[in-house]
Amino acid sequence: TQRQLTNINTLVEESLRLAYHGWRAKNKDSNATLLTELDPNLQPVLVLPQDLSRVFLNLLTNAFYAVTEKSRQAPPGYCPEVCVQTRPVGNTVQVRVRDNGNGIPAAVREKIYQPFFTTKPTGEGTGLGLSLSYDIITKGHGGTLSLDSKEGEYTEFTISLPIDPKKR
Ligand code: ADP
Ligand code: MG
Repeated sequence: TQRQLTNINTLVEESLRLAYHGWRAKNKDSNATLLTELDPNLQPVLVLPQDLSRVFLNLLTNAFYAVTEKSRQAPPGYCPEVCVQTRPVGNTVQVRVRDNGNGIPAAVREKIYQPFFTTKPTGEGTGLGLSLSYDIITKGHGGTLSLDSKEGEYTEFTISLPIDPKKR
């Protein structure tokens, strides 16, 4: 596959639409607020669009799952929220996916990038999403994938993609 100069916002929007519809199809009574903050002046980036879409889809699917889980035991008034942001930072484009689900406990955090690691019941998750995403971002794009989370409160993954990736 070939890298292509890509509008990251377009990829994010497509993935968000897919993830949202997939989630709604399985969770007809659920609702969530979608917040998008996509910088309109983002530079196109040389990426593997299909690989990157898989990463966004993985992160977003995890986010929708997390808010759905929290909704099951949350106090009344809990408003599930999934937020995606794009912005330029120096020589990189950043994509952040944030949810106000249950967060990731420290002990789990250490293992999330391991292939087949999952905390979900059989049939709900393969445990491959984050491990694949990590490889796609780091090895495939020379970028970084980092995590910020507070148990019980939120999870935020940040992707950083170099705008001028080294030729390889
Ligand atoms: P899967 O989704 O199939 O379980 P992933 O590799 O995508 O596999 O994620 C691994 C684990 O990381 C999940 O099982 C879950 O415990 C944790 N995780 C990932 N994203 C989130 C999130 N947004 N909120 C809470 N936990 C998460
Ligand atoms: Mg997943």
